[in-house]
Amino acid sequence: VPAIEFIGVDKRFPGRNGAPDVLAARDVNLSIAQGEVVSIIGPSGCGKSTLLNMGAGLSRPSAGTVKVGGEVVAGPNMHVAFMLQKDLLMPWRTIAQNVEFGLELRGVKAAERRVISTRLLAQCHLKGFEGHYPNQLSGGMRQRAAMARTLAVDPLVLLMDEPFSALDAQTKMILQQDLARTVKENGKTVLFITHDLAEGVALSDRILVMSERPGTIVEEIVVDIPDR
Ligand code: ADP
Ligand code: ADP
Repeated sequence: VPAIEFIGVDKRFPGRNGAPDVLAARDVNLSIAQGEVVSIIGPSGCGKSTLLNMGAGLSRPSAGTVKVGGEVVAGPNMHVAFMLQKDLLMPWRTIAQNVEFGLELRGVKAAERRVISTRLLAQCHLKGFEGHYPNQLSGGMRQRAAMARTLAVDPLVLLMDEPFSALDAQTKMILQQDLARTVKENGKTVLFITHDLAEGVALSDRILVMSERPGTIVEEIVVDIPDR
C-alpha cells in the first residue's frame, strides 16, 4: 500500500459575504510510496497548505478520499507528523523533553523515551544540547530539534510546510542535508512544500507542480540523480 494517497480530492471553502466559493483543491490524485520523498511547488495561494492539512487530517476534503497507510484519514492521527516553518517547541521544556513529548502522550516509559531522544538528537547534530531550553538555541538548532521531535513518534508520513524558509542560507543548507540523511536512515515518507525549485531538486524524488485556480497538480517532475 502507498504511504499516502489522495483520490479525487476537492476542497471548497465557502466564499464570505456572497463571494463565490474558493476551490482550493480540485481533483487531486496522488500516490506516494513508502520511503519516497516528494515536494510540492507552486504559486502562493494555489492550495499547497490545504493539501497538506488534508493529509494531516486537520481539514476534511469536500470530495474524494485521503488515505494514509491504506486507511482513510478521518481526523488528526498518529501515523502522520506535521512540521511547520515555525518550530513550535515548548519553551518551558528542555530540548529532550520537547522531543519526547509525543512519546509521553503515547505512554512510552521514561527510559525508552530517553534512548529515542538521545539517538535522534545525535542524528540531528544536537548531542550535548538535550538539557538546554529552546531559547538557548539558534533558529537552525531549534528547527533541527523540531525535526527530531517529528521523527520521535515514528510517523509513517512526514508532512512539512516550508520547513526551511525562515532560515538563513547556510543553516538552510546544513538542515536540508541533515533532513535528507535522517529521512534516508529512518526510511521515512515525506511530502513537503517548498517555493524553491532547487530545494525540490536537491531533496526529493519527485516534484509536483501545482497551479492556482483551481488547485490542481499540473505537472510532475521525476528527479533522477544517482548517488545523491
Ligand atoms: P498555498 O499553501 O499554496 O499558499 P493555501 O492552501 O493556503 O495555498 O490556499 C489555497 C486557497 O484557499 C487560497 O485562495 C486561500 O485563500 C484559500 N483558503 C485557504 N484556507 C482557507 C480557509 N480556511 N477559508 C477560506 N479560504 C481558504
Ligand atoms: P528531567 O526529565 O529529569 O526533568 P531534563 O530533561 O531537565 O531532565 O534534564 C536533566 C539533565 O539530564 C540535564 O543536565 C540534561 O543535560 C540531561 N539530559 C536530558 N535529556 C537527556 C538525554 N536525552 N540524553 C542525555 N542527557 C540528557
